[in-house]
Order: sequence, then structure tokens, then C-alpha cells
Amino acid sequence: MQEATKIWTLEETLALYQRPLMDLIYEAASVHRAHHDPNEVQISTLLSIKTGGCPEDCAYCPQAARYHTDIETNDLLTVDQVRTAATRAKSLGSSRLCMGAAWRNVEDNADFDHVIELVKTVRDLDMEVCCTLGMLTPHQAQRLAAAGLYAYNHNLDSSEDYYEEIISTRGYQDRLETLDNVRKANLTVCSGGIIGMGESVADRCKMLLTLASLRPQPESVPINALVAVPGTPLENQEPVSIWEMIRMIAVTRIVMPHTTIRLSAGRTEMSREGQALCFLAGAGSIFAGDKLLTTPNPDVFADLEMFDLLGLRPKAPFADGHLPQSGSAEETAAAIEPHRKRWSRPGHTIEANVQYAEIAKEKRRATRQQGDTHQ
Ligand code: SF4
Repeated sequence: MQEATKIWTLEETLALYQRPLMDLIYEAASVHRAHHDPNEVQISTLLSIKTGGCPEDCAYCPQAARYHTDIETNDLLTVDQVRTAATRAKSLGSSRLCMGAAWRNVEDNADFDHVIELVKTVRDLDMEVCCTLGMLTPHQAQRLAAAGLYAYNHNLDSSEDYYEEIISTRGYQDRLETLDNVRKANLTVCSGGIIGMGESVADRCKMLLTLASLRPQPESVPINALVAVPGTPLENQEPVSIWEMIRMIAVTRIVMPHTTIRLSAGRTEMSREGQALCFLAGAGSIFAGDKLLTTPNPDVFADLEMFDLLGLRPKAPFADGHLPQSGSAEETAAAIEPHRKRWSRPGHTIEANVQYAEIAKEKRRATRQQGDTHQ
């Protein structure tokens, strides 16, 4: 059972974020060493089991059907394809396989029955199994848990205030409800966010406070640097600096001391020195594999070389022991109350998406006209 952790205010969290970097890293590293083995890093492999064609409008995501991105789409992978990928991932040090499907939410249909089979298949390989499939009902969470799922990923992405700039097709409350359904099914919770989408430092801190106020706190928090994909509304965002990543990881470590922090998207732009500072500041997990769903990731052998260089060991599956006890719904609701604005599926639109749709319409019109002239 997780010990009681301090409840941080926004002012305190902002002050932490803005501390001199050496002081911040030193404090984060001390917290990390008090609760984790600093030389052990969990390796997870993220596998896209169904790519593209998503009806949502997450402004960073190349899998949203409404954006014109250059990704290869695929229908659900077969049991054999997943078993092969999981076996390879395990042989290269991964203790967890995370399967992602580009869905808005899970439907109670044959596709979900198939995912249940995939979960059982990977669990039989003695790996931790995680899924990220969109919104879940309590019943669906229970079915996944019964199939042997270890963790469910559902990212908050940003603060509640900034979320509406990034996604209009569902609300923050929908996300929190799915996390609650996951927790109640006795699954471990994986939820984090992305920096570099134009949000403020206060937005980053607010997101961390929402996660930190969950009871229990999430077992896993991925911190991603935006990978700006051409064709998405965020295609022109400036890359986030390594120093911002280090600060974000350090603050996450301090406000959620027991959580495993995953250094996630954006690693191809980071040097080994930069990544080493992220591990020092509290990152205890990476995603392995040359692709993170659809965006590039370092080669797994280059990662193993980095582990060797830094003296890091891959963490064994199930090393964190039994599933944690669920906090009561009342306890969680009371903890997140001060940070919550409460809105769900707002009827607003994202300015960047509207502009993008207009440009795409223009392009289609021009192509049609060209076609007419050639006839
Ligand atoms: S992030 Fe997930 S929900 Fe959002 S568009 Fe991409 S696949 Fe769909």
C-alpha cells in the first residue's frame, strides 16, 4: 500500500519547477534513490495493434483520420503477429508489452474479444501486459483485468485548462472517468502527458498535480516530448529542449515519489548525456523499439548499448509485486476536487483544426479542378 504523500499546491510545484537546475536534479535524485533502485530501468515495448483511422481530433496525433499524415494504417494484428512481437521484445529485455489501438473508445464487439485474446497471449509469455485503447467502461476494464492485463494507459496529455486547445472531441472528465474505471478493476494506472504543445509551465504543473492527487497515485507516468508530425495541427511546434524534459521529470519524481516515470516520445532528439540526466532526475522506464506507435524511437540495440555504458539493468517483470489496493472512489474524488473545473465533451472547436480543414478543402478543390482540366 502506498504511504500517504504530500499534497502539493500549484505555487509550490511552480517554485520546484523553477529552482536552479542542479538543486532540482539533486533533490529529485535523492527522492528517486529513497524509493527506487537508481540502476534499474524498466523497458516497455509499445506495439500498435491497430493503426490510424481514429475519429478523435488530438492535435498532436498522426493517427487522427481527419489529418493528412503519411502513416501506414493497419487493422487489428493477429494473435501470431502479437506473440512474435512480444517474444522478440522479451528476448531484448522488455518486461512489458503495451498494445495500442487507435480507437476513441472500446466497443463491446468482436474486436474487443480479439484484444482479450491478445492480452491472454502476452500474459502467457510471463510479461506485464498494458493496453491503450481509448475510453473504457467499468465492465470492459474488468474483462481486461480478468484476462491478465497488468496496466492500462490513458494519458491526461496536459492540464485541464490547456486540454481544450488540443482535443475537442472528448473532455477531461471523460479521461478521469476511464482512469477511475481502470483503478476500480484493480489494474495499475499508467497516465502522463506531452510537453511542447504550446502549453505554459503552469499547465505542466497543473497536469502533474491532477495526477499526483489521484489516490493511489498512478504506478506509471509517461512524460513525452512532442514529436511534431507534418500534417497535424501541431506540425510547426518548436522542439522542446532537453532541459525542459529534465525539469519535468524531476518535478514528477518529487510530487509522485513511488511512481515509475517513463521517458517516452522524443528520445531520438536526445543525446545519451541528456537521457542520463533524465535517469538521474528520476526516469525509471523507457519505451523500446524503433517506433512508438507511428513516430520514430531509438533502435533497441542502441538503447542496450546505452544501458551498458551507464551501468543500467533492465527491470524484471512483476518486480513491483502484487497489484496495489484501490483507493475508494470518495477518497479520489476528494483529492482531485481542488484541481477540477469539470467539463465534458465541450461543443467548441479548435481554431487550428478549423484552419487545417479549410486548407485541406482548398487542396481537394484544386486537385478536382486540375482533374477536370485534364479531362
Ligand atoms: S491520440 Fe489516440 S484518441 Fe487521439 S487521435 Fe490519436 S489514436 Fe485517436
